[in-house]
Amino acid sequence: MALSEFDIIRRYFSDMDFAATESATVTIGVGDDAAGIRLADNIELVFSIDTQIEGVHFPINAEPSLVAQRAFRCAISDLAAMGAEPLCFTLALSLPEAKTSWLEAFSTGLRSAASEYRCSLVGGDTTRGPLTITLQVHGVLPVGSALRRSGAKPNDLVFVSGWLGNSAAYVALMKEKRLDEKPLAHAVELFSQDYFLPQPQLALGRMLRNLANSAIDISDGLLADLGHLCTASSVNAEIRLDKLPLSPELRQIFGESEARKLALTGGDDYQLCFTAPENRWRKIINACDEMECPVTIIGRILPPTADHVASVTCYDENGKVMDTRSLTAGYSHF
Ligand code: ADP
Ligand code: MG
Repeated sequence: MALSEFDIIRRYFSDMDFAATESATVTIGVGDDAAGIRLADNIELVFSIDTQIEGVHFPINAEPSLVAQRAFRCAISDLAAMGAEPLCFTLALSLPEAKTSWLEAFSTGLRSAASEYRCSLVGGDTTRGPLTITLQVHGVLPVGSALRRSGAKPNDLVFVSGWLGNSAAYVALMKEKRLDEKPLAHAVELFSQDYFLPQPQLALGRMLRNLANSAIDISDGLLADLGHLCTASSVNAEIRLDKLPLSPELRQIFGESEARKLALTGGDDYQLCFTAPENRWRKIINACDEMECPVTIIGRILPPTADHVASVTCYDENGKVMDTRSLTAGYSHF
């Protein structure tokens, strides 16, 4: 049987956390958005690595400064999911050729993103090969304050930030060769911004350190990533499809039903999905209002079932359960 990306990680790469089991220095191992190391009594380093391949993670011949922006923003989104402050990053770059115009534009985009988030480039590796960009990002936070995928509790409310599905809409329109359709110009502009310049939710993540029980960033699609959070927390979840934050443009172009599917499975949103006890919702909503960071309550965490298989049940506005088996639940490379 073919192995999925997550089967490969679980079967071959999840049992080498020798340090984590033997010392308290490695605080977070395989399975979260970033790994963690305790550096001193009060500071924890979290770090995460992310690869983007031309033709897989971004379109062939995409504008190099946007490729750089996107690679950087996607990578530090994992720091946002942990509630960490970006510190520095390393860059492994594989290039088919050394073309100055491409390198000029790529480095300008990268410099601009890195300076926006005050994150220094401190090393890397440069090789010849298919265009592949790997960033390892490092961040810091007070010891023990990292937001984890594994902290969700039954009865927690499930929140998401921002809009869902706009990046997936860009990819869908690109595949259908509809990006140049005149009537779509305004929406394509919005979708392309969300695709190439996602906004890593660092301020939100930091604010949630003491308020949320769990968090994950949405890279593979809400259904898959909330599923990962539920698996890590040994719980289930239910969400209301009519509560999904869908942009007016997404609804208008794709219709309600297709827009919901893009939000559930499209991915590339880089918004945060997090859970918190009901008695904290007002505090969270008020803090988000103050930060001008839109968040939506979309559902609730449920206790585990006897089979211990984590599941996310989707209800529509009439209480009818959506059959999500037919949807490709999140991107998997294999
Ligand atoms: P994310 O989407 O947040 O980047 P992934 O879904 O890619 O996370 O990965 C899930 C978990 O598996 C993460 O904790 C990641 O560090 C870990 N992981 C992925 N690939 C490997 C690998 N080859 N070896 C060890 N751990 C891995
Ligand atoms: Mg992540």
